[in-house]
Amino acid sequence: FEGERIAKAIARAGLCSRRDAERLIGEGRVKLNGKVLRSPAVNVKPSDDVRIDGQPLPQKEESRLWRYHKPAGLVTSHKDPEGRRTVFDALREQLPRVISIGRLDINTEGLLLLTNDGELARLLELPATGWVRRYRVRAYGKPDPAALAKLAAGLTIEGIHYGPIEATLDKAQGDNAWLNIAIREGKNREVKKICEHLGLTVNRLIRIAFGPFQLGDLERGGISEVPAKVLAEQL
Ligand code: URA
Repeated sequence: FEGERIAKAIARAGLCSRRDAERLIGEGRVKLNGKVLRSPAVNVKPSDDVRIDGQPLPQKEESRLWRYHKPAGLVTSHKDPEGRRTVFDALREQLPRVISIGRLDINTEGLLLLTNDGELARLLELPATGWVRRYRVRAYGKPDPAALAKLAAGLTIEGIHYGPIEATLDKAQGDNAWLNIAIREGKNREVKKICEHLGLTVNRLIRIAFGPFQLGDLERGGISEVPAKVLAEQL
């Protein structure tokens, strides 16, 4: 374990920005294992004793992860310019300090992961993680099975490339069809755009899995913490 740059460790503890941490070091206010540091070019391990003006760094909170069954009608942003109710308004009592891992559109339902750890959110959102996002989709129209099969090769819509998509028809229901669609990137409005491209209009969109995490039988509006051990296995 090589550790991390001391300024980064200080910033991560939530005290100040990396740049401010470097300034504190320059001012001789930071001690590493009892010695005043003169340069920010050192790495530290969790076991090192870092002090600023004699005070130890606060312990970083444990990373935590929750599954949330987002109902339709809530936006996934911290503040909505149009003043609509957000996921975070709905959860304020139970989880006052969380952020979401990616977003779901206002009318999308289903699995949204929440965390107290900004760095974790950034990591898990990355397309490079390659985590599958599975959706149940109800769409108006008659899907063409050959067109669904072709999505496996990926497609480009209005200059945006979408990687391989797994799409299968589950059943018809009146003028609608239920589809299972799996994507790996989660680009803006991806599932709706794919469906529009096939001549289908999405009228219900439910995310049932994000990587190894499932919506399962979590009730609408409900939250469930992922056990620390399970989370640790994924990191
Ligand atoms: N695709 C969409 O179009 N919307 C979502 O909310 C998620 C995936």
